[in-house]
Amino acid sequence: MTDNLSCKVLICGGGPSGLAAALMFQARGWRDIVVVERRPTPDQFERSKAFNYQLDGRGQRLLNELGIGPETLEQFGLPNDHFTLTNFLADGKVKVVQPPILVPDRKTPYWMTRNRLLAMLHQYIETTNTEGAIRLLYGHSFEGLEQADDGRLVAQIRSEDDAVLRYEPELLLGCDGLRSRVREALARLADDPDAFDMLQFPSPSTGLTYKVLNLPPQFPVRTDPKGVHDHAMAYAFISNYSAPDEKLALFALPVASAEDPRTINIILKPEHKFWQLGSAEEVTAYLKEGFPQLAIDELVPEEEMADFAALKPGRFPAPQYTRRIHSEFDQGRQQALLIGDAAHAFPPDLGLGVNSALEDLFELNQALNAASDNVAEASADYAKARVPESEALVQLVRRVHPYQYNQDPLRLKLWMMRFVFQLGLHKLSRGLVEMPGFMLSQKHLMPFTEMWRRFQRGNYTVMGLGVASGLLLGRLLLG
Ligand SMILES: Cc1cc2nc3c(=O)[nH]c(=O)nc-3n(C[C@H](O)[C@H](O)[C@H](O)COP(=O)(O)OP(=O)(O)OC[C@H]3O[C@@H](n4cnc5c(N)ncnc54)[C@H](O)[C@@H]3O)c2cc1C
Repeated sequence: MTDNLSCKVLICGGGPSGLAAALMFQARGWRDIVVVERRPTPDQFERSKAFNYQLDGRGQRLLNELGIGPETLEQFGLPNDHFTLTNFLADGKVKVVQPPILVPDRKTPYWMTRNRLLAMLHQYIETTNTEGAIRLLYGHSFEGLEQADDGRLVAQIRSEDDAVLRYEPELLLGCDGLRSRVREALARLADDPDAFDMLQFPSPSTGLTYKVLNLPPQFPVRTDPKGVHDHAMAYAFISNYSAPDEKLALFALPVASAEDPRTINIILKPEHKFWQLGSAEEVTAYLKEGFPQLAIDELVPEEEMADFAALKPGRFPAPQYTRRIHSEFDQGRQQALLIGDAAHAFPPDLGLGVNSALEDLFELNQALNAASDNVAEASADYAKARVPESEALVQLVRRVHPYQYNQDPLRLKLWMMRFVFQLGLHKLSRGLVEMPGFMLSQKHLMPFTEMWRRFQRGNYTVMGLGVASGLLLGRLLLG
């Protein structure tokens, strides 16, 4: 006999992948599903994570299987069937653009803030968990793992009032994000701990720093009284600063409702002057000088500016993944798996973080279907299939669109020229030349390994054609 608590599955982390995992197991008819989340309450607003996700077809596959369809998605998010960007320039000009970057036949994605996504998943648990299959333990942290002499795996969970719970799950899921303690703990117990290391790869967007500023849902712009008036529209404000370490733009992505604040992403190099500003007064003065088109004093209440100034900027991580995402214990009676950011993470260039996390779960569900709920067999199959996918995804994120933040304006211009050139070739050749990688990345049913192969093939073709036309031009010019 043991005093340890038993459960079918222990999910560490109640972020997007943890909550979706709980719903997935419940839909399989499993019971004794425990989720531990260190945030004290489900609705705690994490200012530093005020991201606006685009939930695409890849992420929707699992949600649809769980019964979360367009109706619910529209309640919490905003369908993105076209992308219009209104640019307000510092000299008063207004430019509206519709960049040709969307694949026409893609499944409609939804803009959804992290807060709303978590609220949607949490609410869905509340309404479907009528038989108490899921236990949500907020204010509880995963602390570590130990292996008993007889091989059994025990997870230690600490509650807010410092009690320690010891669980012996049949399946342990690490859904605890990039700095996963589950991954660390599994590495400590493994014969080859290095296999759990996150392999990091350089990318031009790694290390960019960001903060989010909240503006009112609607507001006038000095040169355009209508200003920001449509919550389904994206807006950009361009400053009058021209020096590379001074200039900046403020971006407001579409939001789900006309009552939602417009969250402004500020993404800059770490050495940018904006990050040297200390106090709220300094930030206000900098924005007032750079953005004559905005009445900054009226738009940002003192309290919001003080919060913003005090916030530590976040940093885009390097694209990374771990080669090992599975361990088994107690002669195969217990399994442990890593899901989502605990297994692979990258800068948000392609908006695939949350979608690939949900795809991990979709694939785990498929593996469980194929193995008729044999957890050991499904876990091994899942790991075998997902690691090459993570590796390919990491390589794609490094190369497809890392200059989109305008951190290197020349590179961004070259990227755009090349995009237009390749898209033209793709259309002219009726698909013989591959479409640009940014469009490929919207193909939600395509495995990342195939996408990576096709992206490389497209690159070689464009380079080959570039060299061939250069030679031809040279010949013509030289007679
Ligand atoms: C600036 C930025 C912008 C982004 N934008 C996008 C985007 O546009 N589109 C997109 O798809 N992705 C984006 N991402 C990535 C996306 O946020 C992640 O891929 C996604 O959140 C992964 O979900 P997850 O559930 O695996 O991990 P997380 O979201 O990190 O959730 C982990 C959860 O575990 C909890 N936790 C951690 N440790 C413990 C512990 N020891 N015990 C208990 N609980 C614990 C945390 O509190 C958290 O709730 C962005 C990321 C960044 C940094």
